[in-house]
Amino acid sequence: MPCPPDVISRLKEIVGVDKFSTGASNLSLHSKDESFHHAHLPDVVVWPENTEEVRDVVRLCYEKGIPVTPWGAGTSLEGNPIPVKGGVVIDLQKMDRILHIRENDLQTEVQAGVVFKDLNKKLARYGLFFPPDPGASATIGGMVANNASGIRAIKYGATKDLIQKMTVVLADGEIIHPGTLAFKSSSGLDLCRLFAGSEGILGIITEVTLRLVGIPPEFLSAVVSFSTAEAASLTVSQIIRSGLSPAALELMGTNAVRLINKYTEDFDFPESPLVFIEFHGTNKAGLSADLALVRELCEDNGATHFEAGIGRQARGKLWEARYNLHDFILREHPGLEPIAIDAAVPISKLPDIVAYSEKASAKRGIVGYVFGHAGSGNIHMPMMGNPSDEKSWGVLEEINREIVAFALSLGGTATGEHGVGIGKIPFMESEHGESLVLMRKIKKLLDPKGILNPGKMF
Ligand SMILES: Cc1cc2nc3c(=O)[nH]c(=O)nc-3n(C[C@H](O)[C@H](O)[C@H](O)COP(=O)(O)OP(=O)(O)OC[C@H]3O[C@@H](n4cnc5c(N)ncnc54)[C@H](O)[C@@H]3O)c2cc1C
Repeated sequence: MPCPPDVISRLKEIVGVDKFSTGASNLSLHSKDESFHHAHLPDVVVWPENTEEVRDVVRLCYEKGIPVTPWGAGTSLEGNPIPVKGGVVIDLQKMDRILHIRENDLQTEVQAGVVFKDLNKKLARYGLFFPPDPGASATIGGMVANNASGIRAIKYGATKDLIQKMTVVLADGEIIHPGTLAFKSSSGLDLCRLFAGSEGILGIITEVTLRLVGIPPEFLSAVVSFSTAEAASLTVSQIIRSGLSPAALELMGTNAVRLINKYTEDFDFPESPLVFIEFHGTNKAGLSADLALVRELCEDNGATHFEAGIGRQARGKLWEARYNLHDFILREHPGLEPIAIDAAVPISKLPDIVAYSEKASAKRGIVGYVFGHAGSGNIHMPMMGNPSDEKSWGVLEEINREIVAFALSLGGTATGEHGVGIGKIPFMESEHGESLVLMRKIKKLLDPKGILNPGKMF
């Protein structure tokens, strides 16, 4: 049902005509994220500037039974912010103020539309940073809602581990402030962790107080090649089990390494599986001792090339190449779209899931680009295809299903960091069993009319 004219004029009054649009290009910009999932146009987009405007928009939609979908930067990979039932998209990007930096408490309070990269630029002046890094230019609200993590989760945790307090607008417009500024608390149910990862289906997060970390004075990086992805992932698993505390342990399969060599001028890695390793710390001597231990483990597992002592500039380029891998894959397959694998398993099972994924694609003649945050047991393997070609796309979906089923059989999850969105809905039953019933009850309790980001998660 399209938004009725009385709702349209009321929305204009709430946010102002310049923060409201029914224009075709704005609707189109809010119809699709970075995934292959089909676009759906909303009826209206609004750009509120504060919690009270969000409250008034949501309250109006609640009264009228109109779908509301929050929107951060639209960088999701599972269709999470696609307004599949139309209605109103609340784009939080104008809520981009850093409200407080409390450097002595290692905390910052921000509006939900702040882009994490901008936040980190500002925090650098205080010698602080917010560690989760999804690579894309995501907003803090989107990162909280998807529980994003990325390359450094292994040392610093995922977004949900770094939330102190938040402001949330519930489906009926009520505003709540769960959480505490204290470092720890045993008081009551942990509602911050309920809203983290809730993908906009339980409430709209408008402000968040985040826990910060000091920028490490020293770092050491290494790049290690192996002859097989299994040997590489076995080494990753052993590094973690040895008790060392790397800040990043990223795996790249041969296909991914090939693209980095092809699309960057700076690297010419051996075309075989590769691990990027990084340690953060307070002094070089301690880090060098850690790296020596890592080198030993790598050599025991047949590492074919070990390059350490990478300087600040080369390290920056390495991470840039890693972040650009998604774009390199798209460039390599013009006109095709990726299906995203995001399985995560207990660390000892990493070699199993890597080997299984590579075999599942290879046996069907499909190119899979294995890479991922191996240190946290999370792998991706984009495979490119045409979603409109049912037959060939069906093969990619079959591989996806098989990998998820295998990850679940190992005690893992269908999604380590991208969230459920639309793409991972089919796996919710097998992953959560009876807990899914409780999740549905919580959704019903908080959003009885089902207006918040409908068509997602369940
Ligand atoms: C190239 C590329 C690489 C990526 N790599 C990673 C990675 O390494 N790790 C990782 O974790 N992710 C990764 N992602 C996925 C994505 O960047 C993250 O999930 C990110 O957190 C999404 O943030 P966003 O601001 O774009 O949110 P959106 O995509 O706009 O929204 C995300 C979800 O949250 C909801 N939402 C948005 N804002 C709010 C709010 N204020 N309140 C309530 N709900 C809200 C939306 O409805 C939607 O369901 C990658 C994406 C791309 C394109």
